[in-house]
Amino acid sequence: MKNRFKGILLDRDEAKVLSVTTAELSLDDLMDGDVVVEVEWTTVNYKDGLAITGRGPVVRRWPMVPGIDCAGTVVSSDNARFKPGDRVILNGFGVGETHTGAFAEYARLNGDWLIAMPEGIDGRAAMAIGTAGYTAMLSVMALERHGLTPDRGPLIVTGANGGVGTVAIALLAKLGYHVIASTGRPEEGDFLKGLGAAEVIHRDELTGPAKPLAKERWAGGVDCVGSHTLANVLAMTSYGGAVAACGLAQGMDLPTSVAPFILRGVSLLGIDSVMAPRALREEAWARLARDLDMDKLNALATEIGFDDIIDAATAILDGRVRGRVVVNMK
Ligand code: NDP
Repeated sequence: MKNRFKGILLDRDEAKVLSVTTAELSLDDLMDGDVVVEVEWTTVNYKDGLAITGRGPVVRRWPMVPGIDCAGTVVSSDNARFKPGDRVILNGFGVGETHTGAFAEYARLNGDWLIAMPEGIDGRAAMAIGTAGYTAMLSVMALERHGLTPDRGPLIVTGANGGVGTVAIALLAKLGYHVIASTGRPEEGDFLKGLGAAEVIHRDELTGPAKPLAKERWAGGVDCVGSHTLANVLAMTSYGGAVAACGLAQGMDLPTSVAPFILRGVSLLGIDSVMAPRALREEAWARLARDLDMDKLNALATEIGFDDIIDAATAILDGRVRGRVVVNMK
C-alpha cells in the first residue's frame, strides 16, 4: 500500500469556519481500526453533502475525512472475519461523521462494521447502491414486515428523483407494486417511469400544510422528505397502511396529528441505516443483489472521479443530482 495517499480533509478554525481541502494523507491521519481497506469505489450521499458544505451538523470530530460509504479490498486485517484480498462494503456506523471516512484512497475501519461483498454485486454496483440504496431496501423490508403486499394498493415514493427514491421505485416496481412517484422535477417523469413508476405526481401536492385526514390515495410508501410532505402522505394513507420514514429533505419537523394513527390504524415505520445491526444489513444487501434490476441501477447512476466529489456534494443539496453518484477512486 502507498505511504502517502490523497483524501479530502474537513477542518474548522477557532471561529468554526469550515475548510475543505484535498490533502496528502498517511495512515497516521486516520483513526484507529483493525482493518485497512483500499477504497476503490465510493459515493456521494445527501449526508456527505451536509458534511462537506457544513450545512448540517454531521461531522462531530475534527479534522475529518468525510465519506460514509465505500467498497474496496482489504489490505491488512487484525480482525478474524477478514483477510487481505477480501472484497468488502462499508455503510455508515458514523464513518465520515465521528470516524475518518471513505473520501481517501485508504480507510482504516473497525472490521465489525464491514460486510463481505455479496454474490452478484461488484464494487461499482455496491456504491451505485450505497447508503441511499441500502436505506431504500431497509424501507421496503420494513413495509413487508408490516404485511404490505401489492394487492393492498399503490405505494408512494417521495423525493422520487433522489438516491433513496430512485432505488425504492426500482425495487418496489420489481416486487409488483403500483408505484406513485412524487417529484419536484416532473420533466424527469419519463426517467421515473423507466425505473418502474406507474404514476408521477408533482410534489407541490404534498409540500403544504396537511389536514389531519384526507382522501385515501395509497396503502403506504417510502418517504425521503419529512415535514409537511410526510404529514400529507400519512393523511392520505388508507386504513391499516404503513409509511417508512427515512429522510428529511424538506425538513426535520413532522407537523401532523394522531388522526391517521388512531382513526385509520396507519403505522409510521422509522428507518435508520447508520446503526442497523449486521444481520439486517446482510439481509438488505442479499435482497438488493436479488431484487434490484442491475440495468435500472446503471440507468440511475452517474460516475464521477475523486476530483468531482466536492462539486457533487453541493449539487446533491441543491437538488440537482438525479439518482445516484458513484465515485471511481482509480
Ligand atoms: P437526494 O438529495 O438524492 O434526494 C432527495 C430528494 O428529495 C431530491 O432529489 C428531491 O427529489 C427531494 N427534495 C429535495 N428538497 C426537497 C424539498 N425542499 N421539498 C420536497 N422534496 C425535496 O438524497 P437521498 O435520496 O440520498 O436521501 C434522501 C433523504 O434520506 C435525505 O434526507 C437523507 O438525509 C435521508 N437518508 C436517511 C437515511 C437513514 O438512515 N434514515 C440514509 C440515507 C438517506 P425530487 O427532485 O424528485 O422532488
